[in-house]
Amino acid sequence: MDSRTVGVLGGGQLGRMMAEAGHRLGVKVAVLDPLGTASPAGQVAELAVEGSFRDADKIKRKSCGDPQRCSLHAAGKPEPEPLGDKKTFARGGSTETAHKHGVPMPRYMDTPTEASVREAGTLFGYPLMLKAKRMAYDGKGNAVVKDEGGVAEAFSMLGGKGLYAEAWAEFDKELAVMVIRGEDGELRTYPIVETVQVDNVCHTTLAPARVSPESAAQAAAAARKAVESLWGAGAFGVELFLMRDGGVLLNEIAPRPHNSGHYTYEACECDQFENHVRAVMGLPLGGTALRVGASLMLNVLGDPGGSMEETTKVLKQALPVPGAAVHWYGKAEARAGRKMAHVTFCAETMEELRRKVAPFGLLPGPAAA
Ligand code: ATP
Ligand code: MG
Ligand code: MG
Repeated sequence: MDSRTVGVLGGGQLGRMMAEAGHRLGVKVAVLDPLGTASPAGQVAELAVEGSFRDADKIKRKSCGDPQRCSLHAAGKPEPEPLGDKKTFARGGSTETAHKHGVPMPRYMDTPTEASVREAGTLFGYPLMLKAKRMAYDGKGNAVVKDEGGVAEAFSMLGGKGLYAEAWAEFDKELAVMVIRGEDGELRTYPIVETVQVDNVCHTTLAPARVSPESAAQAAAAARKAVESLWGAGAFGVELFLMRDGGVLLNEIAPRPHNSGHYTYEACECDQFENHVRAVMGLPLGGTALRVGASLMLNVLGDPGGSMEETTKVLKQALPVPGAAVHWYGKAEARAGRKMAHVTFCAETMEELRRKVAPFGLLPGPAAA
C-alpha cells in the first residue's frame, strides 16, 4: 500500500505487534535487534537486522543500501532528534515538560546529591520515590526511600546520577490512557483503563475504568495535554494516579505503544499498534472507541522457576473461554518475571466479564455484605 518502510528499533513484543499491524495495512516493517530474525518482532517483520538498536546506520544500510539517502523518522520528526533526543523522551524530561504545560503531577525535585534527597524528604515527607530519569522500566529505575536512613542505599542503588525524588502518591487506583497523534497533529484518545501493578510490573488492565465521570474527564484531559506538550506522531501511553479526592496526577509518559493499550486489539475499533503505524505513515487514524462492553488484559510472566510448562498453563486455560484471546510473544526462554504473553478477555458487560475471569482469580467483586 505504501513503498516506505517503518523501522523499529528493538525487536520485542511491541515491535512484533507493530509488524503484524503492518501486514494488515500493507506497510513494510523492519526491525533492528541483537537477536535479529529470532527476536519476537524479527520473527514476523518483513526485514530483521541483527545488531544493536543504537546502531542507526546499520538499519539504514540494510534497508535502503545507502545511509546518506535514507532518513530515519521516529514518531514524526526527522533525525537527529529521534535517536539523539533522549532528554525529552526519557521519563524525567517528558514528565517535566508536561508538568510545565500544566499537567498536575506529584511534587518532585532534581536530586543530584544525597543531601538533596534528604532535602526532598524534609520537603515532601517519607516514604519518597527516588527515580532515574532514563532507562527505567518495570520499576527497575525506582527505589522507595522509607526514611532518612534509607537515602544512601537508594541513591547508590540507582547509580547516583540523573535522579529525581517524587513525593509519595497515596493513590486510590492507577489509570492509563493511550493517546494517538496523527502526523497532522490530530489527537485521538482511547478509553481510560485501570491498571494494576504487581512488583512494579503491569499485571492487569481493565477497560472501561470504574471511575466517576469527573475523574474520567480529568484523566482524559491530562493525557491529551501531556501528549500535546511533546512532539511527534504515533502512540503515547500516559500513566496516571487517581488520588483519593478524585483528582489525577501524571506518573509517566511512554512515547510508543504501551502495555496498557494491548486490550485495544480485541476491544476497540482500531488497535493501538495499527493506529501507531497509521500515525507515523501519515495515514488517516482509526477509531478508538470500545466495541465491547468491558475488557480485561492479563500479562503472562515467565514462571519463577523458568518452566515453560508452568508459564503457558494460564494460556491453555484461556483458550476454551469464549471472548478470550491469547497473544504469545515468541520468546525462546521463560525467564522469571519476563513478559511472555498476554490474554485479553472481552464481554458484553462488566458483570459477564467478572464471571469469565473469576476462574482465573481475577476481578473479585466487592465482599458480600
Ligand atoms: P514502566 O514499566 O511502567 O515504564 P517504570 O519503571 O517506569 O515502569 P513507574 O511507572 O514510575 O516505573 O513506577 C512503577 C510503579 O511504582 C507505578 O506503577 C506505581 O505503582 C509505583 N509508583 C511510582 N511512582 C510512585 C509515587 N510517586 N508514589 C507511589 N507509588 C509510585
Ligand atoms: Mg516507565
Ligand atoms: Mg510506569
